[in-house]
Order: sequence, then structure tokens, then C-alpha cells
Amino acid sequence: MPEGDALHRAARRLQPLVGERIEVETPNPRAQAERIAERLDGRRLLSVEAVGKNLLLTFEGGYILHSHLRMTGRWSLVPRGATRRGLPWLVLRGSTYEGVQWNGPVVELRTRAIRRLGPDILERPPRIGEMLARLRRDDQRRAIGDAILDQRHVAGIGNKWKAEALWAVDLSPWRPLGESTDQELRALLETAARLMGGSLEGHRHANRVYRRVGRPCPRCGRRVASRGQGDANRITYWCPGCQL
Ligand SMILES: [Zn+2]
Repeated sequence: MPEGDALHRAARRLQPLVGERIEVETPNPRAQAERIAERLDGRRLLSVEAVGKNLLLTFEGGYILHSHLRMTGRWSLVPRGATRRGLPWLVLRGSTYEGVQWNGPVVELRTRAIRRLGPDILERPPRIGEMLARLRRDDQRRAIGDAILDQRHVAGIGNKWKAEALWAVDLSPWRPLGESTDQELRALLETAARLMGGSLEGHRHANRVYRRVGRPCPRCGRRVASRGQGDANRITYWCPGCQL
């Protein structure tokens, strides 16, 4: 599958742009019809991944750019402002590098996911109140650690930051939503937003519980536990001593 392979390489190549606010240009007239530059310029790029035959670039606000390379298209990553010949379809310019898309042949911008996705945890400022309201509309018997991975409530919290944020606010991933106060859930969401924002800005984070099963909790010394949680059975990590 040369095409899939090329997509995965392109996704890897573009990773240095992830987390940055992107200046977007569409030098080639063929790419201008969708008003991609107008809609994406200045938004933060949240992820780049190869999915099926698409390269999916997810931007804050629920915008997903689909790039189909077919046999002719190509992405390169070059230093910001590097000279070039010809008219690329797209230029995604970050602070240090720019991703350049040549020869299309298809780029589409989709926003369909907007209504289904909850507010993005990396928006600034994060819409904590709306996330909380969505969590409260869910089944209140549902465990917190499962509910905050539900992208319809909060978009963008992954398994690692779930575990680390829950530890930081002393909450057990197994506690039902209904046994948590609004204040506790707000603190959890604010902590996840802060930790993830810091990580995007390059701050180092030493894991307290994530992937530390059997090691002592840095706060109380009990051994970190792990178990599958939720429908997707994703592994959650927590300290049974101090996360209640
Ligand atoms: Zn502990």
C-alpha cells in the first residue's frame, strides 16, 4: 500500500506543526474555491493523522482538513519562509516550520463534527461551563474517568491527561458523576486544560500515575493501580490511596 505508507510518512513529517497557531495560505487557485485559508488561518492545529486514504488535519473549532494525495500529491515540511518554485496548493506556516502541500489533488474542509463534539479542551479560554453542562446531561451513574473521554462532552482529552488530571485533583476515575460536585468537576477540567496547554508549550511533565502501575504514588506512597474502563476498555491508572 504505497499510498497508505506515504500518508503515514506525511503525518509524521507534519508533527512539528501540531499545537501551533497556523498561518494558512492557498497559493494555487485550484485550492481557493473552498475558502480554506479564510476559515483556518490563525487556528491552532490539534492533530495530524493518517486515516484510511486521508490525511486528517484537525484544527480547533471542529475544522477537519482532509487531504487525499492519490498518486500525485505530496506534503513537505521546510523551514518557515524557505524559498520555493511553483504554486503549492496549501501552505501551513508555524513559528519555525511550514508544511507545504503540492499537487492536491483533493483538499476538503469539513465541519460536520462541530455539533457532535463538545468544547475543545485546548481552546483559550476553555469553555468549562459548557463542558460541565454536557457532563451533567449524561447518565450520572457513569464513572468520571469514562465520561471525560467522551468527545461529545469534552473534545481532546486523551487517556494520559485524563489519568494525570484526575490524580492532580485527588479524584478517582471510578467515582460516579453524580457523586461529584460541580466544583470538583470544574477543577478537573481546568487542570486538564492547564496540563495539556503546558505540554503543548513544551513544559515537561513527569507522570504521577500514567503507565506507573505498581510504582509508589508520589503523594501518599500507595502503589498505583490500573484497570480497563468504559466501553472502549481503555486502561486507567490511579492511586487507590488518595484518589477517592
Ligand atoms: Zn496516592
